Amino acid sequence: MDVSSIRVYAIPMRNRFRGITVREGVLFRGPAGWGEFSPFLDYSDAECVPWLECAEESAGLSWPAPLRTSIPVNCTVPVVDPERAHGIVAASGCSTAKVKVADPGTPLSADLDRVAAVRDALGPGGKVRVDANTAWDVDTAVDAIRALDRAAGGLEYVEQPCRTVDELAAVRRRVDVPIAADESIRRAEDPMKVAVAGAADIAVIKVAPLGGVRRALRVAEASGLPCVISSAVETSVGLAAGLALAAALPSLDHACGLATTSLLTGDVTSDSLRPVAGHLPVLGTAPTPDVFDGFAADGPTTARWLARLDRVRALR
Ligand SMILES: [Mg+2]
Repeated sequence: MDVSSIRVYAIPMRNRFRGITVREGVLFRGPAGWGEFSPFLDYSDAECVPWLECAEESAGLSWPAPLRTSIPVNCTVPVVDPERAHGIVAASGCSTAKVKVADPGTPLSADLDRVAAVRDALGPGGKVRVDANTAWDVDTAVDAIRALDRAAGGLEYVEQPCRTVDELAAVRRRVDVPIAADESIRRAEDPMKVAVAGAADIAVIKVAPLGGVRRALRVAEASGLPCVISSAVETSVGLAAGLALAAALPSLDHACGLATTSLLTGDVTSDSLRPVAGHLPVLGTAPTPDVFDGFAADGPTTARWLARLDRVRALR
C-alpha cells in the first residue's frame, strides 16, 4: 500500500440503500493498480479484514487470467413506484433486472406492482430476479414468492428470502422458483454449508467480503453451484475486482450484479463502469484526480476512515 496515495471518498446515493444515503470508502494504490476498501459502516473491524485483503490484492497483484472480456449484467430496481421502475429498466439496456422486494414498511402489493412493471419493460424474453435480503419467515416467503412469480410472469430466482440456511432449505422444498444465497455466503463462517444443506440453487458471490478475487474464485468453485458475481456498491475501482472474478469463473450462466454505479450520484473516475447493451467490459480502473475531487470526503469523514483502516490493518 502506497500510504501517500490514500484517498477517502463520500458519494451520495440516488436512493436510500441498506439504510445509507452516502457511500464512503478508501482508495489506495499499489504496484499493480488501485484498490478499494469500503466495508459498510455496521461491519465490525474483524469483519472488515477480508475487505482490506481484497483491496490489497487489487493494488498489489495482477488478476487471474480472464476467460471472457465482457460480462453480462443486470440492472437494479430499488424500492420505487412502478412508473419509475419501468423507466429504470427501459433506460438500462439490460435484459435482466434485479428488483428489491420486502423492504420494511412496503406492502407485498407494491412489490407485485413493481415486478409487473419490470416485466412489462423487459418483455417476455427478459429475466426478473428479486432480492428479499432475509426479510421473510418461511411461510411468508412461500406465499410471497408464489405471488411474485405470477406477477413477474416467471422469476429467474429469489435471492435470500430468509435469514438462516435451514429456512432457505425449507423454502426451497416448497417453491419451484430457484433460490439464491447471498447473505448466507457473504457473512458465513463456512460458505460451503449452504450447498451442502441443499439450501440454494445459485450462489451470489461478492469479492470484497470474501477477501479478494483468488479466494472468491475458490469459494465459487467449492460451492458447486452456478454463481452470480455481485458488487457491494463500490466505485468503479472496487467493481473492477468483481469483473476480474466474473471474467475468471470457469462458467457464467447468469447476468452479474456489477452494474451498480447507477445507484451512486457519481464515480471517482471519468471511465465509470456503465453497461452498454447489458454488458460491462473487463477493465481495471484508476481514479481521475479532477473527478475524484468532486467526491473527496470532508475532514471528519476522512479521519474516521483512516482510523478504521489503521484498526483493520492492525488485525491482520
Ligand atoms: Mg442480495
